[in-house]
Amino acid sequence: GIVVENVSKHFGSFKAVDQVSLEIKTGSLVALLGPSGSGKSTLLRLIAGLETPDSGKIFLTGTDATHKSVQDRNIGFVFQHYALFKHMTVRQNIAFGMEIRKMPKATVKNRVDTLLDLVQLSGMGDRYPSQLSGGQRQRIALARSLAVEPNVLLLDEPFGALDAKVRKDLRAWLRRLHDEVHVTTVFVTHDQEEAMEVADVIVVTNKGQIEQVGTPAEIYDHPATAFVMSFIGPVN
Ligand code: ATP
Ligand code: MG
Repeated sequence: GIVVENVSKHFGSFKAVDQVSLEIKTGSLVALLGPSGSGKSTLLRLIAGLETPDSGKIFLTGTDATHKSVQDRNIGFVFQHYALFKHMTVRQNIAFGMEIRKMPKATVKNRVDTLLDLVQLSGMGDRYPSQLSGGQRQRIALARSLAVEPNVLLLDEPFGALDAKVRKDLRAWLRRLHDEVHVTTVFVTHDQEEAMEVADVIVVTNKGQIEQVGTPAEIYDHPATAFVMSFIGPVN
């Protein structure tokens, strides 16, 4: 799993992440939910190693990763606008990370086939990203991030750029994918409904701190603070 221990990150005098502690169980699907500027992306980037904490520690699969490089953390990352390589086919995109790790050709081919099946895009391996819809591209981005068998999958508003209908389909699809793969997953969203529908556990962030951690039902039925109540509460 992931353990965040009393981590802070300042930008100038601004506390983007303020003494945050958090424990994420192996194999769970966790949403970081909070308003814009509450520190969700910064916390995710700290876990990924894309930012270094000013203080505190981050443990990944039981070992202190605070000073490990991004490469050594064995993490898969998908952003809102995930740039697939435009000049590569879908298959080549998925294979890329395995090839730079010099995995045997036959293994790479098998795993690309498996991953294409998993994201339900088997017929599309020879297409180029420009020949896919936005939702299909994000599924390929996920397949690519899973290719190197990460310990942890970090998704920063992966469906944020897509329209409402596609978002809804992809939510259900992410849930199913996670039920098959069981990789520890943390995804960022500012959409309450998305967090409620997809996550096992929701972490509510506000002003660089954590307001509450709980299952969707716990958070909905028993908001711990006035902020959570107003942020989660029944939407009209
Ligand atoms: P959003 O929902 O808008 O993506 P967020 O919860 O992901 O918001 P962060 O991106 O983590 O928020 O930013 C938290 C705060 O830290 C914001 O006020 C932001 O302006 C500030 N911040 C983030 N990165 C930097 C940076 N590299 N330099 C200066 N300030 C930063
Ligand atoms: Mg963000």
